[in-house]
Amino acid sequence: VKETIVNIKKRDNDVAAFLTLNEEEALRQAEELDRKGFDKDNPLFGIPLGIKDNIVTKNLRTTAASKILENFDPIYNATVMDKLQAAAAITIGKTNMDEFAMGGSTENSAFKVTKNAWDQTKVPGGSSGGSAAAVASGEVIAALGTDTGGSIRQPASFNGIVGVKPTYGRVSRYGIIAFASSLDQVGPLTRSVKDNALVLNAISGLDPHDSTSSKQAVPDFTAKLDGNIKNMRIAVPKEFIGKGVATEVKEAIKKAITTFEKLGAVVDEVSLPHSKYGIPVYYIIASSEASSNLQRFDGIRYGHRAQDVKNLEDVYVKSRSEGFGDEVKRRIMLGTFSLSAGTYDAFFKKAAQVRTLICRDFEHVFADYDLILGPTTPTPAFGIGEDVKDPITMYLNDILTVPVNLAGLPGMSLPAGSSNGLPIGLQLIANRFDEETMYRAGYAFE
Ligand code: GLN
Repeated sequence: VKETIVNIKKRDNDVAAFLTLNEEEALRQAEELDRKGFDKDNPLFGIPLGIKDNIVTKNLRTTAASKILENFDPIYNATVMDKLQAAAAITIGKTNMDEFAMGGSTENSAFKVTKNAWDQTKVPGGSSGGSAAAVASGEVIAALGTDTGGSIRQPASFNGIVGVKPTYGRVSRYGIIAFASSLDQVGPLTRSVKDNALVLNAISGLDPHDSTSSKQAVPDFTAKLDGNIKNMRIAVPKEFIGKGVATEVKEAIKKAITTFEKLGAVVDEVSLPHSKYGIPVYYIIASSEASSNLQRFDGIRYGHRAQDVKNLEDVYVKSRSEGFGDEVKRRIMLGTFSLSAGTYDAFFKKAAQVRTLICRDFEHVFADYDLILGPTTPTPAFGIGEDVKDPITMYLNDILTVPVNLAGLPGMSLPAGSSNGLPIGLQLIANRFDEETMYRAGYAFE
């Protein structure tokens, strides 16, 4: 813990991954664990972890990188935090992110811009950019992120590490500052596949506080890491390697396919015909849910409250106008519009219907295949300041990750080479609650 703190203070001058350090409390916990004695059966014993700042941590400032929560000290722990504590892991600090997890570059943080660990002129991706940069720069060996439309997998891809979004319902969302409740999941970012499986082991499972968490038994995600993927059936959707995907990314994916074939897998091309509607469907559904979830930030209950107000409505309007950043306001407006009487049928309802078609595409593929393979992102990391002024360009980057959230499936990004000094990510997608197959294939490949 001591060394990690020293290391973070040094490395964070370059990457700016952390918003808050938990220095005193982390040291106190480490001393307590020392007194108890090392537990060799507990793989996370005493391991310092980075935690994305939209995961509530008792008595430790939790901002979701928003001005509206700048001074918010939660009075309870998210379930994943209780579980990590039970596993004797130590929270070393809270990592930077796009405000309320809305974005793909961590440039939407109200506090600072995190840098890519490989090249500080490039974005680390987002919204879990702080967690990804913290792991890739060697500050911590693991961190938690959240993934609503790619926010674990995309920054993992941009930083050359392993990021997993579990099946919807695998991990409790209790105490996660809600963005889009039907899409949000917590997951680990790590340097290796095995580390990732170990962290997921610790945070998974049914939680009475989250009615969408699943009763499904939690296997040991490390159990099938034996390198054997003989006869595994892998599908490559032709839409994932089509136009819009950079040549160097396609090349890396082709190489990965050859590697999987050498390992004994059978790889075929398939089609996910409705995935092309993923972006509009996702941005309507995610923004609609966000507009509802973010109503609770009213200037009364948490965080920032405007001064000089004349009446109650003024408290709401001024606090929210001052507290939310531009991207969050854009989503609230888009979502409120999509849900309004008069536009509901044409937008939200239509998006929900197309979502079902996207889910069915995946069901058809998983009737015949164990795994889907493709790139995580159409390009490697882009430059800081490059896309942030144009929301549509930024949204289009999510084309390969959002269908997975819409269908509630587990997805992994793992390193598959690099181009011009920037990492390229390979995405593996498994059937619902079949993270084991995804980990097995990832482990055989890495
Ligand atoms: N980039 C996507 C968005 O801006 C995904 C965000 C996420 O997964 N939290 O909504």
